[in-house]
Amino acid sequence: MNSTDIQLDITKTKASKIDQVDFSNLQFGKVNSDHMMYCDYIDGEWQTPKIVPYGPMEFEPSAKVFHYGQAVFEGMKAFKDEDGQVWLFRPEQNFERINKSSKRLAIPEFPKDYFFNSLKTLLKLDKEWVKYGDGTSLYIRPFVIATENGVSASESDRYRFMIITCPAQAYYNKPIKVIFAQEYSRAADGGVGYAKAAGNYGAQFYPTKLAKAKGLDQIIWTDASSHEYLEEAGTMNIFFRIGDRLLTAPTNDRILDGVTRKSIIQLAKDNDVEVTVDKVSVKEIVEAAKTGELKEIFGAGTAATVVRVEGFEYNDEYYDLPSIDDSYGVRFKKSLQDIQYNRVEDPHNWTMKAF
Ligand SMILES: *Cc1c(COP(=O)(O)O)cnc(C)c1O
Repeated sequence: MNSTDIQLDITKTKASKIDQVDFSNLQFGKVNSDHMMYCDYIDGEWQTPKIVPYGPMEFEPSAKVFHYGQAVFEGMKAFKDEDGQVWLFRPEQNFERINKSSKRLAIPEFPKDYFFNSLKTLLKLDKEWVKYGDGTSLYIRPFVIATENGVSASESDRYRFMIITCPAQAYYNKPIKVIFAQEYSRAADGGVGYAKAAGNYGAQFYPTKLAKAKGLDQIIWTDASSHEYLEEAGTMNIFFRIGDRLLTAPTNDRILDGVTRKSIIQLAKDNDVEVTVDKVSVKEIVEAAKTGELKEIFGAGTAATVVRVEGFEYNDEYYDLPSIDDSYGVRFKKSLQDIQYNRVEDPHNWTMKAF
């Protein structure tokens, strides 16, 4: 079916809120654009997607999502180029991934034409909310929740798929201090670590709070069985540079297969930077930090793109990382943004014009 054949029910806002927003002072995720999309799954079928003014929704307290966390989400961004065109970055990856996450949570998959047609329509309606400027974007949050009423612990027979968006500002993301996990775990073999399942994030808040109380910003999760291998951060994949070689863990059922991660691996290859995708042991990173061979650590994810790690704690010892001139993190962030903002050729066909 051609995506233009999809019916959408559109109710436009009577008064845009855009003039009340200070775009130079945005807190990430706090402000929503004028419209949102939702689509219900009832009697085994996705109904007509609706676009309505952003606002509260009503659910019964017994709705299953509140009790069993049957919920998954995605995170993606729209970028505006110099000519006012709006671009998405590898959106098919996000579409495929939300269905992969859904499948693991026994949520029915969402049709591709529904997804892209409603997303593009939503972006077109709210195009003034996508500002032009380096680092500025419209963050897009698709998600699905279980909406059947009744507290029996079983899969829901009703769902709501939604897309909300938030303007995101170019912010200087300050380097972070991390701790390598030795006690708590984020994900286990056979579990849901590879899915963007709501519960994965809720379960990290407490250990992260403990880390913050020690003056650290985030946890680098290790494998749950031995805590000997470094896996990923809470919402970012993680890269290490030893000498001139880049290292990152292979994805598996505990690690989220990030779009930023796979794009950076490709960019590294394009730039003849040696990349090793293999288990990264805590031991080799600590050793390399001691000898000075560890040049950098950075996190990679849609929200922040690339974030420098300025040091890590392990076994109650803190290791500082130098700030270096030719940082891979800085270089690949720039390359990614050049593609995202349509400033350079896009050799891998990563971008998709929204409208
Ligand atoms: C979303 C996410 C990432 C980053 O994925 P991107 O597709 O690059 O945004 C990495 N790890 C976890 C746990 C995540 O939830």
